[in-house]
This record gives sequence, C-alpha cells and structure tokens, in this order.
Amino acid sequence: MYMKHKRIPDETIRRLPLYLRGLVFLLQEGHLSVSSEKFGDYVGVNSSQIRKDFSYFGEFGVRGVGYDIRKLAIEIKGILKLNEIHKAALIGAGNLGSAIISYPGLQLYGFDITAVFDNNTHKIGKKIRDIEILDVAKLGILKKKNIQIGIITVPRNAAQETADALVKAGVTGILNFSPCYIIVPKNVKVITIDIAGYLARMPYYITAG
Ligand code: NAD
Repeated sequence: MYMKHKRIPDETIRRLPLYLRGLVFLLQEGHLSVSSEKFGDYVGVNSSQIRKDFSYFGEFGVRGVGYDIRKLAIEIKGILKLNEIHKAALIGAGNLGSAIISYPGLQLYGFDITAVFDNNTHKIGKKIRDIEILDVAKLGILKKKNIQIGIITVPRNAAQETADALVKAGVTGILNFSPCYIIVPKNVKVITIDIAGYLARMPYYITAG
C-alpha cells in the first residue's frame, strides 16, 4: 500500500508518468538507487523540481545514497492508480489508431487496448494485433466489458458523436486525438493530444529574432 500524502498539484501529477518511465528503465538497467541530480539528467527535469515533486509523497531519499528506485516506482504507481491493468477501447481504426494499438509503450503503464471500433464496413471484422474491429454501433458492449477508457482517433467531424457514444457506454476517461474540443459531462475526464500543437511552439524557441 502506498503512503498517504498531501494533495498533489496537477503539474506534479503531469510529470509522474515521466518519472515512472525513467525509474522503470533504470531498474531494467540494474540500478537500485539514484540521486536527484542523476535522475534529473535522465528524465530531463531539474533536480530541485524533482526533489520538490517527490517531497509531496514522503521520504524516499537517503542522503549520500539517493532515492530507492523500486520503492519510488511503487509509490508513483499507487498515486496514479496504475497498479492494475486498465482496459481501453479505441474508436477509429485508421492510420493513427492502428499505430497506437501497436505501440508497446502503453503496456509499461499497464494499459491494454482490448476493444477496437470503426464504422467502415470494409474494416469491421478485420483484425489489428489480434483484436477484431467491431462495428461502432456496438459501443454499448463497453459497459459489459467494464472498459472505462476510450481513445478517439476518428476524423474531427465524428469526434463529438464518438465522445457522446462513449459516455453513453459508461466511459469516464477519454484520450482525444481528434483536433477539436469535445464537450462531455463533468464526471468525464478528457485529455486532448495534438502533435501539431506541440510543434507549433517550436519556431518560437528555435527561430532567431
Ligand atoms: P484515418 O482516416 O486513417 O482513420 C480514421 C478512422 O476513423 C477510419 O478508419 C474511419 O473509418 C474511422 N471513422 C470515421 N468516422 C467514424 C465514426 N463515426 N465512428 C467510428 N469510426 C469512424 O485518419 P488518421 O490519419 O488515423 O487520423 C485520425 C484522427 O486523428 C483525425 O482526426 C486526425 O486529425 C487525428 N490526428 C491527430 C494527431 C495528433 O497528434 N493528435 C496526429 C495524427 C492524426
């Protein structure tokens, strides 16, 4: 069981998956402890920020020895509720959807895409990575399968109707890749990801003048 802790700021929560990934890689490389300086270099966050973030959930550092990597990883998994496998459904088995389904990085955090849907009759019934593509009209089965996370990779004009159908099917967390804002009830968490949006910040940093 992980420790009780103070309310953790969203900014810290946002960095925790990055820390967890770094800790898992360090464990895989055979390390048992790491200093905040070394860990900072490893994950690209400055060490004082790391010390501050870790201070929200207890004492894991020993002066001169560093942080106990295994204990920290367990703690972060507990905070993020990543101790169990989280099943997810993906809607839109196109280019991006197929790439996400095949991405092994999801398993590191315990995510498993176990249901895939599309509305294209040529795709329905075919398989991606052993998962049969189902008719999106059957999205209601998510309730029975106890799937609470939906990943939207449909064209922009179909994103809202897809979100509505996911909510109706009992989904409470949506990862939205469609480049648009979607409206959901208050109890549903939406995280929208747009690579173009990240890239759009780049010229500001790299262009002189
Ligand atoms: P795609 O055309 O290859 O795939 C879209 C899939 O959605 C198709 O299989 C299509 O049949 C299916 N679809 C369409 N309407 C549907 C509906 N109502 N219900 C269920 N399935 C439906 O497109 P793509 O290149 O994979 O892009 C998918 C989405 O992801 C687009 O909105 C695109 O703009 C977005 N995208 C986002 C990023 C990002 O960084 N977030 C990057 C690339 C693409």
